Amino acid sequence: MSNVFEYAPAPESRSIVDLKPSYGLFVNGEFVDGHGSSFKTISPATEEVLAEVAEASDVDVDAAVKAARRAYNRVWSRMPGSERAKYLYRIARIIQERGRELAVLESLDNGKPIKESRDVDVPVVAAHFFYYAGWADKLEHAGYGTTPLGVAGQVIPWNFPLLMLAWKIAPALACGNTVVLKPAETTPLTALLFAEICQQADLPPGVVNIVTGAGPTGQAIVSHADVDKVAFTGSTAVGKAIARAVAGTQKRVTLELGGKAANIVFDDAPIDQAVEGIVNGIFFNQGHVCCAGSRLLVQESIADELLARLKRRMATLRVGDPLDKNTDVGAINSHRQLERIRELVDVGDAEGAERWSPPCELPERGFWFPPTVFTGVSQAHRIAREEIFGPVLSVLTFRTPSEAVEKANNTPFGLSAGVWTEKGSRILDVAGKLRAGVVWANTFNKFDPTSPFGGYQESGYGREGGRQGLAAYLQGGEA
Ligand code: NAP
Ligand code: MG
Repeated sequence: MSNVFEYAPAPESRSIVDLKPSYGLFVNGEFVDGHGSSFKTISPATEEVLAEVAEASDVDVDAAVKAARRAYNRVWSRMPGSERAKYLYRIARIIQERGRELAVLESLDNGKPIKESRDVDVPVVAAHFFYYAGWADKLEHAGYGTTPLGVAGQVIPWNFPLLMLAWKIAPALACGNTVVLKPAETTPLTALLFAEICQQADLPPGVVNIVTGAGPTGQAIVSHADVDKVAFTGSTAVGKAIARAVAGTQKRVTLELGGKAANIVFDDAPIDQAVEGIVNGIFFNQGHVCCAGSRLLVQESIADELLARLKRRMATLRVGDPLDKNTDVGAINSHRQLERIRELVDVGDAEGAERWSPPCELPERGFWFPPTVFTGVSQAHRIAREEIFGPVLSVLTFRTPSEAVEKANNTPFGLSAGVWTEKGSRILDVAGKLRAGVVWANTFNKFDPTSPFGGYQESGYGREGGRQGLAAYLQGGEA
């Protein structure tokens, strides 16, 4: 399709971000040199090296846990909830004040479009701190008691670096725990900027500790003997390894793992809205979303029309510079992730599904994958069963509501699902039968701090967000 007119690029300035050539670890309220080596974090859109970041060794992790323990014993667990709330409110307000800086840095380090980091990630991050600030002095009404667990070791992935940090840190602090958090190796920078925000908010030293590094640093955190609670978001494979590592200890664990969500479109659905929801479901954040609507189940009678409209819409998606305010789909987060996507897409070709992408020019440098849809997919195909974690949609059809439910539930995962229909009764009926932690109706990928999020089966256990999110950080919550 030839462009009717050319857009002028509208890049957001990166001058607001003060990138340092190198970063240390944030332990006991200060940035310190690590005892290990260091690694580079790059912009996946250009492969430009952004900074050199310390890799925390076992000794560093131990120092961070000790700092967290001291802060827990001496200050944080003794502080009245109403006082803890003031710090959380302060952090929330600073996040809003420094929102542009956080958004630009997130887009640089992660590759996500600025319109998403600016309009989704950062506002939801601030909302999360505001929300849990509100709980800090009302814990007795939540139903899990008021006694915190102690030191929480938290390990998060690269797809929503700041948002996953907020999901972990805000409820932990509200309940009176202290934390040691490791961001993903490819996206450490906004967590380090958050550390600066903790300093700016005068958070007592040791309440939040940020240790950067890769898998071994994560392992050192989760297996540290003085960590009381492990919270992990990431792949099912690593989640299972962590569950094994903590088995037989007193540690409490929550795991937020992968997904393969069905987005179900019935023949009475408002079709243009459904197309928008499908696009949002799979191309938001390049499809690097655990709850992405990566399996489209469309009722057979409208499949041709829906697919035609979907392809027309996909052809308008702008792929490119994450800092350009026009960009809809940014860079794939890492070369490794790009290889994983390519591998599974090759499998889809080999399995006989039909692949389509709109014509689009991809930048020469950096890591890119075009928005892609596979039709003629059957349930046995790997692209229908495995998480691709990229901008790739697999389309299946169904004839009856019960067939839709059966196909939707035919997965080892159970994180989320979407239902598109005009009938309220059908929404309630189908949603009640879907084995998924979150079901969206006539919308998709809506996140709100008041609403619990989490999975069934291989998608993990525990809930984040809402009153239920407090359970993971209080003695009276579930084990
Ligand atoms: P990953 O490899 O499991 O990594 C997640 C985090 O764990 C990273 O910080 C990683 O470090 C660290 N890690 C790696 N090996 C470890 C080990 N043996 N012990 C402790 N920590 C270890 O996952 P990913 O590929 O980065 O992230 C994508 C996955 O996360 C997808 O499957 C997605 O569905 C899932 N996810 C789930 C949710 C949810 O809420 N359910 C949200 C977002 C993402 P390095 O990256 O630095 O090596
Ligand atoms: Mg990076």
